[in-house]
Amino acid sequence: MAGGKPAGIPCVQLLPDLRCALFGQPSRPAVCASLRPTEEMCGDSREYALRWLAALEADTR
Ligand code: SF4
Repeated sequence: MAGGKPAGIPCVQLLPDLRCALFGQPSRPAVCASLRPTEEMCGDSREYALRWLAALEADTR
């Protein structure tokens, strides 16, 4: 965990309603602001996106 959080742990800025507490603020990390969603990443449901993310985490472990 070099300068970040462990995989599978939600960001501390993630609000209970799944919005980002820093959205629109200069303190939001640049990597978050630069991320552009794709159909491959998001699919058509939250469940799809979470499976894709879990696979990415496993592949980069
Ligand atoms: S956009 Fe970035 S700062 Fe905001 S909740 Fe997601 S990971 Fe955290």
